[in-house]
Amino acid sequence: MIPQEIIRKKRDGHSLSREEIASMVKGLVEGVVPSYQMSALLMAIYFNGCSAEETAWLLDAMVDSGTRYDWSDLRPERAFVDKHSTGGVGDKSSLVILPLLIADGLDVPMIAGRGLGHTGGTLDKLESLPGLRTQVPADTYRAWVRENHGAFGAQTSDFVPADKMMYALRDVTSTVESIPLIVASIMSKKIAEGLDALVLDVKFGSGSFMGSLQNARELAEKLVDTGRRAGCRVSAALTNMDEPLGRSAGNALEVLECLDVLQGAGPLDTRELSLQLAARVACDARGESSEPNDAGHMRALGRMKDHLLSGRAYEIFVRTLILQGASRDDVERRTLAWTSAGANTYPLFAPVAGRVRKVNTRNLGLAILELGGGRKRVDDTIHPGVGLSGLKKRGEEVGPGEPLCYVHAANNSD
Ligand code: URA
Repeated sequence: MIPQEIIRKKRDGHSLSREEIASMVKGLVEGVVPSYQMSALLMAIYFNGCSAEETAWLLDAMVDSGTRYDWSDLRPERAFVDKHSTGGVGDKSSLVILPLLIADGLDVPMIAGRGLGHTGGTLDKLESLPGLRTQVPADTYRAWVRENHGAFGAQTSDFVPADKMMYALRDVTSTVESIPLIVASIMSKKIAEGLDALVLDVKFGSGSFMGSLQNARELAEKLVDTGRRAGCRVSAALTNMDEPLGRSAGNALEVLECLDVLQGAGPLDTRELSLQLAARVACDARGESSEPNDAGHMRALGRMKDHLLSGRAYEIFVRTLILQGASRDDVERRTLAWTSAGANTYPLFAPVAGRVRKVNTRNLGLAILELGGGRKRVDDTIHPGVGLSGLKKRGEEVGPGEPLCYVHAANNSD
């Protein structure tokens, strides 16, 4: 197959065959198709889309690019569940949800992502902790899940390597906002994880990739349908990203906010979203109705609140971070070496007193990227301490001389 002919076909609006899609994906992973040709194909897909069949073939090729986790020897005693978000600024709920689900007796092989476009990624947030590893060989990751009932993992050279490579390219080529690419990216990881149940947090609004509710609904339907066809119980929540989730956005800052939430404090929106999504997937895992307000969901929500308020989920989170290489001292004492990593904090004052009416959330995400919290090139190193904290929420008053937020910026004299 000739890569440029395949790119040309998609560029000109034609459908690709299963073999053509497989040859591009396999070629990328094997180093035969260079990243510039894959980037061109991604852009052609961005403009011309994919049919349902093409999306399914892309997904298959991505899943088949690496190993799959098989937990069958641990079933039926153990159930394997996960949550994944389509991405949003300050969207940190995965960090709270993993320990909540483990506390609820479930197993969570959570393969997460890095920063994508103007949004942050769970892996970059966690890796702000010195020593913490997410990108480990499949055998190590399996052992972590068996021992700890869950761990935060990454795409690697042996687990969905195609998504690892395509994801990194999409991040820096403005090819994120494409429904078939998002479906194949998310569901390749989730299918290869070998799950029983999955909850998807499909974001809409200015801090997300799907601006409108209608687009988000279409994405949710495609994600759910793909997951169900693969034999997984999948549900989706549509949630608003017209302002950042919580009051912090930026890698280390978001882990700090999650520690607050897991210790019974922190912003209510971060806490509520985490509890709701955890309750949903816990119901799905046990074959109960996950519809909000149904009895099963209310019971699960009650359990999740208890895991949070009892401190059990906090203990599990700390245990998981230490298992993955973080130091107890950094996490429990919130050392400056971790939390600021050389960033200085500056208040950003409102020009006039008033009430916050609207937040340009995408621009906040881009500001964090510009501060060094995201990548402009695939090989960029992230500054873990930069970002925004103390963000005022919509509807809140800002008095004279009061900051709208604090900017954490790298100390360039270092
Ligand atoms: N999360 C992913 O894993 N992939 C996407 O494309 C978007 C969000």
